[in-house]
Amino acid sequence: MDLRHVGKCLICAEFCVDTAAPDEAQDWCLKHAGATGHTHYEMAAFQYFDAILTDPRRWTAATADELQGVTA
Ligand SMILES: [Zn+2]
Repeated sequence: MDLRHVGKCLICAEFCVDTAAPDEAQDWCLKHAGATGHTHYEMAAFQYFDAILTDPRRWTAATADELQGVTA
């Protein structure tokens, strides 16, 4: 899967919708800077992925709780 990019303002914590194009995220930051005067930004890239269960029969409520660190 492709990388997604997000621009976030470090002054007010507002951020853009994630996009496949880093330039679009940076454009959002520059427009936000023009509109607000905020000058500190963070650009982040991340990736979605799908987990595929190779043996779904082994997946039980007990293993889900175990993976999440839930204690009954
Ligand atoms: Zn801002």
